[in-house]
Amino acid sequence: MDTGLAGRTAIVCGASAGIGLGCAEALAGEGANVVMFARRAEVLEREAERLGAVPVAGDLRSAADLERLVATAVERFGGVDVLVLNSGGPPRTGSFEFSDEQLVDAVDLLLRSSIRLVRLCRPYLEASGRGRVIAITSSAVKEPIETLALSSAVRPGLVGWLKTASRELGPRGVTVNSVAPGRIDTERIREVYPDGPGEADLAAIPLRRLGTPREIGDVVCFLASDRAAYVTGTAIGVDGGLLRGTQ
Ligand code: NAD
Repeated sequence: MDTGLAGRTAIVCGASAGIGLGCAEALAGEGANVVMFARRAEVLEREAERLGAVPVAGDLRSAADLERLVATAVERFGGVDVLVLNSGGPPRTGSFEFSDEQLVDAVDLLLRSSIRLVRLCRPYLEASGRGRVIAITSSAVKEPIETLALSSAVRPGLVGWLKTASRELGPRGVTVNSVAPGRIDTERIREVYPDGPGEADLAAIPLRRLGTPREIGDVVCFLASDRAAYVTGTAIGVDGGLLRGTQ
C-alpha cells in the first residue's frame, strides 16, 4: 500500500515515549519528515536521532513552545502536512477527588494545547492540500472510566471541538480525526498494572492482550496517508475489542 507519506512533514507531540513514539516510528518508516516534540530533551534527542527525526523539546502547556515547534517544522521542511496531537494523561481520580487546579491543568494539557496547535498549523495544513489532524484520545471518550474522571470529562470536549473543526477544514482539504486507544503497553499503563495485567484484565479484552504503541502508530499512519483521504470527523477505537458498544 502506497501511503504517499514520503517527503511529507509530520509533527508528533508527546513523542519521546509510548504511543507518541509509536506514531513517530510509523511515520518515519513511511519516509515522512518527522518533528518530535516532548518535554524531556535528552530522551527525545536520542529517539529522534534513532529515527532520523528533528527533536523540539518543550511543554504542550506553553504557547511559546508550541510556536517554536511549528516554526521549527516550517524552517526545516517548509510546512506542516500532518499534526499528531498527543500528550501524557491527567491524574487518575474519581469524580470528586480532583482540585480546581487539576481540572484547569487537564483542560490546559488536553484541550487548550490541541486547539492552539491546530490554529498555528492551520495555514500550512490548508496549503498542503492533503492536511491531516489526528488526535490521540482514549476509550474514555466513548465509555467514561470512573477512575479516570478528568480524562472522561475533558477528552470528549476535544472530540467535540475536532468534529466542529473537521466541518470547517474539510472544504480546504484538511481531514480531522481521532484515535481512541484501549489498553496499550506503555509506561502509563504500568501505573495501572505495576505487575503486568492479570488474567481478569486480559479476559475483558477480546484479543486477550495489551496493544502496542506501534499498533496505534499504524492506524495514525493510515489516517495520515493518501489512502484515508475520505475519512474525516471520526473517532476510531483501537482497543482489541475492549468496548462493548457499537459506536
Ligand atoms: P506516556 O506517559 O507513556 O507518554 C506520554 C508522552 O507525552 C511522553 O513522551 C511525555 O514526555 C509526553 N508529555 C507528557 N506531558 C507533556 C507535556 N506537558 N508537554 C509535552 N510532552 C508531554 O503515555 P502513553 O501511554 O503513550 O499515552 C499517550 C496518551 O494516550 C495519554 O494522553 C494517555 O492518557 C492516552 N491513553 C493511553 C492509554 C494506554 O493504555 N497507554 C490508553 C488510553 C489513552
